[in-house]
Formats: sequence, structure tokens, C-alpha cells
Amino acid sequence: MKIQPEQHTNSYYAATIETSTDYPKLKGHQNTDICIVGAGFSGISTGLHLSELGYKVTLVEANKVGWGASGRNGGEIIGGFSGDELMAKKYATKHRDLIWKMRWEGNDIIRNKVQQYSINCDLKWGYLDVAIKKKHLDMMQSWSEDMRSHDYPHEVNLFSKEKTANLIGTNKYIGSLLNMGNGHIHPLNLCIGEARAAESLGASIYEQSPVIKIEKSTKPTVFTEQGSISANALLLAGNAYHHFDKKMRNFIIPVNSFVIVTEPLSDEVIQKINPRDLAVCDPNYILEYFRLTGDKRLLFGSRLNYHGNNESYIKNGLRKKMLRLYPCLSEIGIDYAWTGKIAVTVNHIPQLGKLAPNIYYSQGYSGHGVTTTHLAGKIMSEAISGTLERFDLFNKIKPIAVPGTHFFQKPLLSLGVMFYKLKDLL
Ligand SMILES: Cc1cc2nc3c(=O)[nH]c(=O)nc-3n(C[C@H](O)[C@H](O)[C@H](O)COP(=O)(O)OP(=O)(O)OC[C@H]3O[C@@H](n4cnc5c(N)ncnc54)[C@H](O)[C@@H]3O)c2cc1C
Repeated sequence: MKIQPEQHTNSYYAATIETSTDYPKLKGHQNTDICIVGAGFSGISTGLHLSELGYKVTLVEANKVGWGASGRNGGEIIGGFSGDELMAKKYATKHRDLIWKMRWEGNDIIRNKVQQYSINCDLKWGYLDVAIKKKHLDMMQSWSEDMRSHDYPHEVNLFSKEKTANLIGTNKYIGSLLNMGNGHIHPLNLCIGEARAAESLGASIYEQSPVIKIEKSTKPTVFTEQGSISANALLLAGNAYHHFDKKMRNFIIPVNSFVIVTEPLSDEVIQKINPRDLAVCDPNYILEYFRLTGDKRLLFGSRLNYHGNNESYIKNGLRKKMLRLYPCLSEIGIDYAWTGKIAVTVNHIPQLGKLAPNIYYSQGYSGHGVTTTHLAGKIMSEAISGTLERFDLFNKIKPIAVPGTHFFQKPLLSLGVMFYKLKDLL
């Protein structure tokens, strides 16, 4: 299949890149220790950890560093990982502590990398889970008790409807849970900053170089139109944009998600709607999330029952949802609107596994990938360098394949949105 390399999508993040990347196309043949296909958080984080361990790492990206979901997501740093409760149940008491630690490790990795490599990415701490119904409040109560019982080191507070309205200027929620260990970032600047950190440690990066073929052998080789790389180990990190292995494509369901960003807001409006600069998210399946950007615009994200990338359609669809929370923004313009693909797995557990003894994959974070990709990057680097304990926890849970997800994506997704809307009503 011919893949035409693309520039970044027309997002707020692409318009506010700190330093844009211009890595060369892959040409000719190369040998390396570890080849990574896909330069989103999964690929870059693994590459950075392996470079820190002294491996020769080569990353090959179809488009630009951070071009996929990593450079166009909501930027919400949310601890835990999708399917963590299911995993905790599956492994019961044996690995309970290990799984609990993994829930927060992605946040710490981001905190440390930003500090260690001085990455300018508008990192802010503070996050509010908001409740729409009583069962959400019960869930938050149980999370906060769980955190206290584990001596969670950051401020965690349950708030009433009134206090929640004071914090975020809307009375649509019946309560909330503040967690100062979660937060938000400019994800594209984080991804590029981490790529530069890996490069500074010797990693080679190629952009505009789609991999079109993989040869599986003791030294797997990937081929682009003009070049090839042979490696001792290969990591496939294309996630929802994965184009090469048919079997792997069926492991995930690619789901479109949408984001809008307003024009900059006045100090007066900010004081009213988010004076503490918190990231906010509701617990619905068809969820809504929002936060302020570094230059004080409101970023608002949600799902729409729509599969295209028409900017005005996305603007209108999401603006309606945003105004239900904030009618005071009715005169505020929307400067950016875009879409990106989330890789959802059937059981919602991320898929960290192997296709062959030296071919690994890491994908399927089910919409909860900013921190999980950073955890996954660490775990994949451990696995590739020979420590399998944490990798095996994921690898033992075999992916459930859904044949034809790519061909029947639109009807499947419409059905899915309807199904989850109904679940949200319960
Ligand atoms: C709109 C949106 C909002 C989101 N909001 C949040 C949020 O607020 N918080 C959160 O935790 N998660 C969020 N997510 C999820 C999160 O962004 C993803 O889980 C995460 O970024 C996945 O990273 P990745 O590196 O695995 O994949 P990606 O970032 O998608 O990277 C995959 C890369 O592989 C490359 N690639 C694919 N095929 C090839 C090939 N053949 N050759 C070479 N390269 C190839 C692609 O070009 C791409 O750059 C959101 C996702 C979207 C789409």
C-alpha cells in the first residue's frame, strides 16, 4: 500500500511548536541495535529510555515526529491506565502493588523527563474528575480512599457541587475529585522535546519515511521506498495509524476523537471558569474534557458521531457541547478544530506484546495514552534489554482480534457511539 507522507494536522499545537523538526528521509541501508517504527509517544519514549541505556536506536516515522495522536491529543496527564482495574482483578493479590505503582509511573516519567531535558511544554499539575451522577461520586470516593490507603503523595480532595462550581465556573456537575498529581501539557512540544533528548544521546530519526514492508528474520529488516534498516530488535509503535501488519490491525478499533480551541480568553473569564488552571474530565464513555492552554485559550474535546475532518463541522459540533457548560463563551471565537484517531482495544487493556522473538509492539491505550505511552516506553525498554517481569503482565493477556475493523470502521463506530451513549444514561 502506498502511504503519502503528510505534514502536521492544522491544530493549535502545530501552530505553537517550540522548534519544528526536519529530520531527513531514510535513504540507503543501515544497521542498528533497535529500530522503532512510529515517532509518537510510544516510539519516542521507548527510544529515549533505550538511548539512556546506551543502545543505538533508529526511529523511522511516516510523517513527522508527533504527527499522530501524540501531537494532537487533549494534553491531559491522567494517572492510571485503561483496563487497570481489570488487570488488578486478573492478577489479584500477586501483583497488586506492582500494578498500583504502574498506575502513577507514567506521570512521574513525564515529570522527570521534562525536568531532566528542560522541555518547554506548558506542563501544569492539577486535575479535576467531575461527576455527573451519584455513581460517579461513589466511584471518586472509592478512588480517593484507595489513594489515601496507598499514601499517594499528592493532594487529593473530594468537592461538593458548590465548591466544584467555584473551581470551574459551571454548575453542571454534582461534585468532583481534585488530584494534584495529574495535570496537563502541550503534547506535541513534549513529544518533540523527548525526540531531541533521544537524539542528543545518539538516536537517529527519519521523517517522511513510511515503512512499507517488514522482513521477519533473526535480524528483522524494515523497508521504506528509498531505504532499509536491519536491527537486533524491532518495535512497532504505529498505534491507530498502524499501516503494515494486517494481523495487528485487527487487534485495535480506530476511533475518531475531536478537539477545538478558542481564541485567547481575558483574565476576567479565566478567573470565572478555571482560576486554578486545572485539566477537567468527566467519566462518561462519550466523555467531555477541557483545560486552558499555555496562552489561556479553552481547549475542549469530545467524541462526535462523525468520521470526517471537516473543520467547520467539528467546530459546530463541539462548540454546542462547550456552550452547554459555558454559555458565557458564546461570543468567543473558535480558532482551531481537528480530529485524531484513538486505538481502542476490546478489553480496554493496552497491548504490549511480540509478533516474533525480536519483533515487539506497543499499542491500544484506549484514549488514555499520554501517561500510559510513557509507562509503556519504560516497560518496552526493559523487555528489549532483557527484563520481562512487567512486560509479561501485559503480554500474557492476548489481544482479542476483531476482523475487519478497518473496513467496517464507520458502521461499527456509529453503533459503538450509540451503545456507549446508552450506557452513559444508566
Ligand atoms: C483527539 C485525541 C485526544 C486525546 N486526548 C488524550 C488525553 O487528553 N489524554 C490521554 O491520556 N490520551 C489522549 N489521547 C490518546 C493519546 O493521544 C494516544 O493514546 C497516544 O498519543 C498514542 O501514542 P502512540 O505513540 O502510540 O501513537 P501515535 O502518536 O498515533 O503515533 C504513531 C506514529 O506511527 C506512525 N506510523 C504509522 N504507520 C507507520 C509506518 N508504516 N511507517 C512509519 N511510521 C508509521 C504515525 O505516522 C504516527 O506518527 C487522545 C487521542 C486523540 C486522537
